[in-house]
Amino acid sequence: MQRRAPAADDLPECLACGACCFSSEAGYLRVFEVDAARLGADRAVVTVSVGGACYLAMKDGRCAALSVDLERGSARCTLYPRRPDVCRHLQRGSAQCRQAIARAHRPQRAAPRG
Ligand code: SF4
Ligand code: SF4
Repeated sequence: MQRRAPAADDLPECLACGACCFSSEAGYLRVFEVDAARLGADRAVVTVSVGGACYLAMKDGRCAALSVDLERGSARCTLYPRRPDVCRHLQRGSAQCRQAIARAHRPQRAAPRG
């Protein structure tokens, strides 16, 4: 039986979302040789070595390739056509995608007053 892709009509387009591109982990998304070849010269800018392995560089809690417009509240992958396989494999509408969106929209706990 053919598996159907999860319905994603209620979700933003990936190029207007970026929720799965946020993490506090330095080693969040692996970059392999096939990805590095696709990245070309940008490899030096958007990747970092963590424990001897290559990962997407994280900056301010998000992938260094994610462009965030705080005024519009939007985020866009600047590498989208050349993004690594690990990003391509995260299916829009999957459980992992929905968890990332739910996490991104979770209200921040107010800082305790001193
Ligand atoms: S896969 Fe999901 S969480 Fe990631 S950018 Fe696309 S819609 Fe957003
Ligand atoms: S390369 Fe693009 S899709 Fe992948 S984590 Fe970075 S900003 Fe997100």
